Amino acid sequence: MSPALTALQPDLVFNGGRFAPGVVHLDARGRIVSVDAAPLPGSMTMRLRNMALLPGFINAHSHVFQRLLRGVAERPTGRSEDFWSWRSAMYSLVDKMTPELLEDIATATYLEMRQAGYTRVKEFHYLHHGKGGQRYADCHELSRRLIAAAQRAGIALELMRVVYLEAPEPSQKRFRDKDIDDAIALTDELRATAGIPVGIAPHSVRAVSPEGFARCADWARLRGAELHAHVAEQPKEVAWCLERHGKTPVALLADAGAFGPRTHAVHLTHLNDYDVTLIGKSGAVAVICPSTEANLADGIPRLPELLDAGAALAIGSDSQAHVDPFLELRSLEYHERLRSGRRCHFDPAALLSATTVRQAPGDVADFLMIDLDAPALAGVPITALASALAFGADARVVVGHWHALNGGAVILRPELLRSAGRALWA
Ligand SMILES: [Zn+2]
Repeated sequence: MSPALTALQPDLVFNGGRFAPGVVHLDARGRIVSVDAAPLPGSMTMRLRNMALLPGFINAHSHVFQRLLRGVAERPTGRSEDFWSWRSAMYSLVDKMTPELLEDIATATYLEMRQAGYTRVKEFHYLHHGKGGQRYADCHELSRRLIAAAQRAGIALELMRVVYLEAPEPSQKRFRDKDIDDAIALTDELRATAGIPVGIAPHSVRAVSPEGFARCADWARLRGAELHAHVAEQPKEVAWCLERHGKTPVALLADAGAFGPRTHAVHLTHLNDYDVTLIGKSGAVAVICPSTEANLADGIPRLPELLDAGAALAIGSDSQAHVDPFLELRSLEYHERLRSGRRCHFDPAALLSATTVRQAPGDVADFLMIDLDAPALAGVPITALASALAFGADARVVVGHWHALNGGAVILRPELLRSAGRALWA
């Protein structure tokens, strides 16, 4: 006789792009067997009253150490601050970072992410080396600190190891590998030993040459790995690229063969019509980080046109100015409303489907437990639940995370953040 199934029976399950009553059956390893109308005979039923199950959110773009800039980088200096002055503040943080501090802040921030509803994070990791560019005895010391932090926090981590070769400023020495061969060898080495998915991330057109992008694209294609890059975040970057290479950052990546369905192009804030077509045609993922893009005064991407052209969508908490997937979804819609003077640009259920983990038979169950009694959801009819979550809720509606590896609902407080932040800025 096969072992009994576990039946998770909430009031509602987000399944097939909508909320409806349902029972999720899991096998002994926590994998989804089926979603049914009622518990199957002989299953052990866990009734989750006044709760809805929603697959966990994917945080597709994170620089976890930047969490220590929250509040600190907001300087009232007569409206002269911009992306580039923020970057100087970030570099002063880079100069202070130690392996111990990185592990502390990553543990605390990954806990904060998990508590907010992110259950998977793709870390765009560019802080590789010691102060002055000195290599650690284990060249992957800082990557391993992130892996340890994610394990402690109970979040699934994917590392996008950044390639950063043009590094004129002293702080950038910590990001820089010797050359493209060195960067690729180190990425292979990390991939072979990390025990988690590892992709490659040519940082941006500022940091990697067109030839470097082509090498990274080949690497990712041959290994079936993801390629992530910052693309067209700032007008100055686009202007510089046009002057230096005679083409936009998007055209440069396209000519280097860097676009495909596994490519994650981050920000895409300043695009021309041809850029939009190129990205859409490739089926690449547009990773939009609206709270960071607002915080850094980047601008508003042309998301409706990108999606119409064929791009996929992901969200990221990026600089950690905010860690709340519900805020990111609301911002996607609200930024578009403010720009266009029109309402209702995105289907909320489609936004939830695009930004959460796939949950189908055979997948390990990875569900958020949403409190239907939470103040933000009181009085919301079932038919409007997806809209209320995407546009009217925040992370406080998440009361737990069901994941086989973590044994069910665990809510942890980022206690470590207090000591790490105060010690650094004291
Ligand atoms: Zn970024």
